[in-house]
Amino acid sequence: MNKIDILSLSFEELQEQIAEIGEQKFRAKQIYDWLHNKKVTNFSEMTNLSAQLREKLEKFFWLNSLKIKKRLVSDIDNTVKYLYGLYDGENVESVLMEYKHGNSICISTQVGCKMGCKFCASTKAGFVRNLEPSEMLLQIYESERDSGKKINHIVLMGIGEPLDNYDNVIKFLQLISSKEDMSLRHVSLSTCGLVDRIYDLAKLKLGVTLSISLHAPTDRLRSEIMPINNKYNISELMKACKAYFKETGRRISYEFSLIDGVNDNKETADALIRLLKGQNCHVNLIPVNEIKEGIFKRSSSVEKFRQMLCDGGLNATVRRTLGADISAACGQLRRDNQ
Ligand code: SAH
Repeated sequence: MNKIDILSLSFEELQEQIAEIGEQKFRAKQIYDWLHNKKVTNFSEMTNLSAQLREKLEKFFWLNSLKIKKRLVSDIDNTVKYLYGLYDGENVESVLMEYKHGNSICISTQVGCKMGCKFCASTKAGFVRNLEPSEMLLQIYESERDSGKKINHIVLMGIGEPLDNYDNVIKFLQLISSKEDMSLRHVSLSTCGLVDRIYDLAKLKLGVTLSISLHAPTDRLRSEIMPINNKYNISELMKACKAYFKETGRRISYEFSLIDGVNDNKETADALIRLLKGQNCHVNLIPVNEIKEGIFKRSSSVEKFRQMLCDGGLNATVRRTLGADISAACGQLRRDNQ
């Protein structure tokens, strides 16, 4: 018999499972509290349950966990980067960042990635598997436990394409929203642009902020650096983004990583202004992180590019670089470990 991953169950599912093993429903509330509020790592810690019930839980369920394989702490800004070992020996990364408004964690959603963006370290060795909802949750629980910090913001911007692991990501978001101390308004989901899934997500009206990895304003350029653009072009993507805003009222955030000599010139800035003008959105500029296998160099005209966008009427800021001394950009630690 396969044991059930108890941390991936919603409260309603846990209630059903508890009834299934012949226990009273109210037990589910106690167990859910141990799992998601007290965050125990072992059934034996559930001390208000009888030894008999704890044994029964062991028999039918398993409690997933992550192992800290590496912890890098930035001397510059206290950013912590974790390499987490999963139950099957695979690894993923999470990054814990301090901001004025609180602590933010960037979590992974898959082991590896299929999307093949040319500048990204996470996709270089291909795709291994989807993360379970429990494995996304545990990146938060474990980082809080280890750092002693309370996490207020979550970004799904680590290794993987969240909308390519749609069902588990939605389940994870629902688990997060059932917690009193966390609102989905403090969650951002970053996607390279799986258009069909953007419409699905919009319909759920979860309140999460959608970040679109745009990186180029024309199909010719975007297809060169992001293969997904051959499946869903920019015009389809823009339509989906407008629909997302209309449905949810949440302003879209466009990520734009500036690459020297590729997308950091005036012509690109003008095209981006034409593309986004009139949309209620924000452009997040990031100097591209140079990766080992990469051919792309960091742009030296980031500030100039930002000024051009602002002069053209767009709302654009340069993302603060955090953890520069610990290579905090996603995918690099896992690659180094392989
Ligand atoms: N698959 C999702 C989320 C993971 S990538 C997505 O594509 O959005 C998180 C963000 O980092 C994306 O905007 C991605 O395009 C960007 N990114 C990846 N590699 C980068 C690099 N080397 N330099 C700068 N940004 C990078």
